[in-house]
Order: sequence, then structure tokens, then C-alpha cells
Amino acid sequence: MPTFLFDSIVFGPVHSRRLGVSLGINLLPVTRKVCSFNCIYCECGWTPAKPGPKEQLPSRREVRDALRKKLSEMKDQGKAPDVITYAGNGEPTLHPDFAGIIDDSLALRDEFFPEAKVSVLSNGSMLRRKSVREALKKVDQNMLKLDSALPETVMQLNQPHVMTNLAKYEEYIREFEGRFIIQTLFVRGECDGRTVDNTTGEEISAWLEAIARLRPQQVMIYTIHRDTPLGNNLRKVPVSELNAIARRVNQLGIATSVSG
Ligand code: SF4
Repeated sequence: MPTFLFDSIVFGPVHSRRLGVSLGINLLPVTRKVCSFNCIYCECGWTPAKPGPKEQLPSRREVRDALRKKLSEMKDQGKAPDVITYAGNGEPTLHPDFAGIIDDSLALRDEFFPEAKVSVLSNGSMLRRKSVREALKKVDQNMLKLDSALPETVMQLNQPHVMTNLAKYEEYIREFEGRFIIQTLFVRGECDGRTVDNTTGEEISAWLEAIARLRPQQVMIYTIHRDTPLGNNLRKVPVSELNAIARRVNQLGIATSVSG
């Protein structure tokens, strides 16, 4: 099924289901996805198995210049973004200058639109890098992926290319002292002849226990929205069920948002 890649460093602004008017930043190549995961629902398609011909990542200076130009244009047009969001063609924290780029972005945000938030959508795989953790502590919305608290489901849904250890992941997340958001995509279907479903009773119980331990400032609950690499083999979870999961999170005293 068709999936898509962003073709520039700065994209949008777009109206995001979860974030409002969002100016996107892509720190990855425009010709291929680069990610430490290979989620079966990824809107950017499958992660290439082998590194391709060497594509340059945008430099820190290129990102700063592109963001400055766009924010300046938006200022002239009287259009304010709600949020500057790091997402794009893969995992933004893989960029070797991620920490410096975040510093530049916060400075530019303060200069042009001090009310806007700086957000990072991350799969959390690079939390083992101290500079990444320190950078994420500075942003307004540090959104970390947790699709399941069961290791075998993480392997099936996210297909990490790096070693993942949920206990270690939780340890790193605790360093944020509650200043983080958990993003969870619920989905059903089939992959490689096996059932996929992170909404079963066992799944939700384990996931809620993890949420109760971690105590994020918010949980963003969503489901597939666009094409996925598995096409019709994956199905949306109905909004009524997402809302029912959200109510159980709310009972823990934790805010939720639901995007169906
Ligand atoms: S972590 Fe994000 S970018 Fe990477 S494969 Fe999963 S959905 Fe795609």
C-alpha cells in the first residue's frame, strides 16, 4: 500500500489530529526512511533492511536556517503554529546533532513564537544516549512510544532493530520526573500469518500497570489513520474502544487524548 516520505526539512504547517497547527521538522533524508524500529503500521513504509547509498542528513546549520526562514515567513503572514514538531521520515533522535538542533529550535521558537510548543515524537530507542535524554528534558512535549508492555508484542508491532529492554526503558523514562507523554497506537489485524492485537485483556492490563508505574503527564491514544505497509491486513480500533481504554487511564488520575 502507498505510504509516504516528507520531501523537505521543514514541512507544513499541517493540522495534526493530536497536536493542532503543527510545523513539522524532518531530520532524516528525504529519499528514504531511517529508523531504529520497523513498525508494521508505519506511515513511512518499511524501514530498509540495509543502509542505502549514503544520503546526507541535514546539518544542524541547514535545519536552523530552514526553520528560521519558515518561522519568519509565518510571522510575516500572521500565522502562528501551535507546535513545532520533530517527526519526519523516521526517528529524529538518531540525528547525531539532535541535542544542538533542539537548542537552536528552542531559541528560534522564543524569538518568533514564544507561545508555540516544541514537541518530539520519538520511539525512545535512543534514550540510552545521555545527550538525547538531556535534550528531551528541555522540550515542551516529550512524546515517547509505548505500544505494549509485553516484550513479544513489542517485537511483533515495532520490530526494533536495536536491543529493547522495557525495564531499562522505564528506568530512563523515570529521569524525566513526569515531564513526558506516552503515545500508544492500538491496532488489530494479521502480520506474517499471526494475529496482531494490542487491545486484548492481557495487553491492556500490562500496559495500564506500566502507565501507573510511569505516571506520564498525558497518554495519547490513537489508531492507524493512513496507509500502512501491511495494507488491509491492519484495521483501526473503533473510537468507542479507544475511549474505553482512555477512561481506564483517567481512573489512574492521568489525562488522555484520543484520536480515532
Ligand atoms: S518508530 Fe515511528 S518512524 Fe519508526 S517505524 Fe515506528 S512509526 Fe515508523
